Amino acid sequence: MAKKENRYKEYGIATQAVHTGTDYDAETGAVRRPLHMANSYKLPDDLSQVNYSSTDLLMYSRNGNANQHWLEEKIAALHHADDAIVLASGVGALHALFWTLLKTGDRVVYPNVSYMAVYRLFHELFNVKFGVETVMVDMTDLDAVRKAITPGTRLVHIETPDNPTNGVSDIAEIARIAHENGAILSVDNTFASPLNQTPLDLGADFVVEALTKFINGHGDAQGGAIISNDLETMDRIRYEAQVNVGAVISPFNAWQIFRGSVTYPLRMKQINETSLQVAKWLEQRENITFVSYPGLQSNPGHATAKKQMKNGYGGVISFGVNTDDKTVEKFCAALKVITFAVSLGHDESLIFPQPSYDERIHLYPEQFQNGFIRFSIGLEEPEDIIADLDQALRAVGL
Ligand SMILES: *Cc1c(COP(=O)(O)O)cnc(C)c1O
Repeated sequence: MAKKENRYKEYGIATQAVHTGTDYDAETGAVRRPLHMANSYKLPDDLSQVNYSSTDLLMYSRNGNANQHWLEEKIAALHHADDAIVLASGVGALHALFWTLLKTGDRVVYPNVSYMAVYRLFHELFNVKFGVETVMVDMTDLDAVRKAITPGTRLVHIETPDNPTNGVSDIAEIARIAHENGAILSVDNTFASPLNQTPLDLGADFVVEALTKFINGHGDAQGGAIISNDLETMDRIRYEAQVNVGAVISPFNAWQIFRGSVTYPLRMKQINETSLQVAKWLEQRENITFVSYPGLQSNPGHATAKKQMKNGYGGVISFGVNTDDKTVEKFCAALKVITFAVSLGHDESLIFPQPSYDERIHLYPEQFQNGFIRFSIGLEEPEDIIADLDQALRAVGL
């Protein structure tokens, strides 16, 4: 597919979030592009030129649909990139990327802390089903990374900050090590999101965003994106993984995320601010055992985060409470403003305990092994969030 057009390239991110991918509706002049739920599009009169596995021609919605393409223009713009592919979920995007890039005998280096599906794909599935060599490493430790990335490694995948511990890895340095060894670097940018971090500008080859989170931002649609300047590989991903595996986004979800993303920069600025304020409050609150937030001076990843992140440090705080799993659950249930639910990056604050019996907890740094909670900051008043945390801690005697 051709490079995505961006008529607003010279403008700031908030302006691009409002204007890229939208235009007057050609038929009615409406100032919003419409939602096209059609599965099929009219074929050209001369069929001899039609390739039914193509994604260039609007023909069938799994091969590409109009609302998907408009959203792709905006996502590419937010990352200063030439191309983006929007799929049905963040995991659909991760799988599409890995499935296209990897084959039997390839070696992948992946992080010890990552989104659950990445762990499953590399710890249980790609290695066993397809004979891919998968090597887990602590991406926050550059010496360990240097040792793990051997010549002939095909792919290095990182997540920074990582889900769920908020660990920070050095994108530019890992890109350099990967490229020296002939490997490709992909970065899951969901926790940071593009206002705060654009990994392609730091040397990464591919970026994945779970649009479900901060970019849609309203907790009402699922979607994922792969972003890159490598147009040839992006077309292979469309052909191999979108058309022939099928995780394309529905036009409705693309339309919904398109709408949510208009206010993304504005929301994210507020979330950055509130998160730093709440993290600082948690840091001085008794019975809080640790606070992992890259914006805090005390964070071991702060210097690297400062180097590679801009505008702010994201909307997730990982912290520990000095108590057992059962009391952590009671604390979460006692919250009145903050919602006790999985996911992150919604308009409402979301809290999710990571119990000590979680199968991956032993892979995390020592302090995360007891009373660990992942907390996603929403758009409520910072004072109300803080007061809610305080009253719920008191309610369980902490
Ligand atoms: C949520 C999330 C994903 C997966 O996104 P879905 O839309 O839920 O499939 C991937 N990576 C990270 C870091 C996430 O937080």
